[in-house]
Amino acid sequence: MSSNVAKLARHRLAHLPTPLEELKTLSAKLGGPRLLIKRDDQTGLALGGNKVRKLEFLVADALAQTADTLVTLGAAQSNHCRQTAAAAAACGLQCELILNGENPEMPQGNRLLDELFGAKIHWIEHSQRAAKSREVMEQLRAAGRKPYLIPLGGSNGVGALGYVTAITELIEQLQNERVNRIVFASSSGGTQAGMVVGARANEFAAEVMGIRIDKDERNAAVYEQELSEIANDAATHLGIKERFTANDFKVMRGYAETGYGVVGDLEREAIRTLAQTEGILLDPVIPAALLARCSI
Ligand SMILES: *Cc1c(COP(=O)(O)O)cnc(C)c1O
Repeated sequence: MSSNVAKLARHRLAHLPTPLEELKTLSAKLGGPRLLIKRDDQTGLALGGNKVRKLEFLVADALAQTADTLVTLGAAQSNHCRQTAAAAAACGLQCELILNGENPEMPQGNRLLDELFGAKIHWIEHSQRAAKSREVMEQLRAAGRKPYLIPLGGSNGVGALGYVTAITELIEQLQNERVNRIVFASSSGGTQAGMVVGARANEFAAEVMGIRIDKDERNAAVYEQELSEIANDAATHLGIKERFTANDFKVMRGYAETGYGVVGDLEREAIRTLAQTEGILLDPVIPAALLARCSI
């Protein structure tokens, strides 16, 4: 690759490479093409998931800045917040989370795990989340701590490097098999931006197609614009010259009827289908997986 990815600071947290498996039963059931799945649900840290790859670069950056606390934000059942809390614990750092949503009396799921990993939680309305994270940063600094702020979903140029390297890993696993299209759930954008940069840097021709899982209340193209900004930031860190615009990103909409984090009929069908054909569990917050459609 024409970049210096190997020289970038990375703090190992994930079990890599994640397996690349064939979905034979699903493919037969759909009467469809050859389907491969990259098992990024199996990244290892605290039930795994895609945020661990981003956190390898974000935590390395935090440690380089001698931070003592990771601060991040998200929804009550955020996977990113659960994985950040676990990463902080694994690195001897403290963690403060700014969450919006319900704080039930009996915490469940990720919300329960955040506390188990020792994170301190601040509850706030969605509209106040970003302001509250700045306020928490200031308060921690005033108390003599060294906080490091990780954006929503770990999606900035540093976090996206985790998916630049995921593409290199995938290319090695594919050997010379050609893939037409990679599909995955796209939400805060670091996964998609990183894969597009990784594909460009490696001259990997597969179409990278994000399935939008949030409702875009503003003009839809705002998301593609955000993706290009994250990608350009990642390219700068990598020291590659390529620059990206909104047109470099393919996003499929129409699957987010119930909105972020709500399990509706489409989500139930997806979860049941993969469970009953392959014995693979999809995430209930974001029931999608990294799939690669191959031609043989
Ligand atoms: C966060 C998340 C995504 C989306 O990744 P982004 O980088 O935020 O776009 C997809 N699937 C799962 C399971 C996630 O937790």
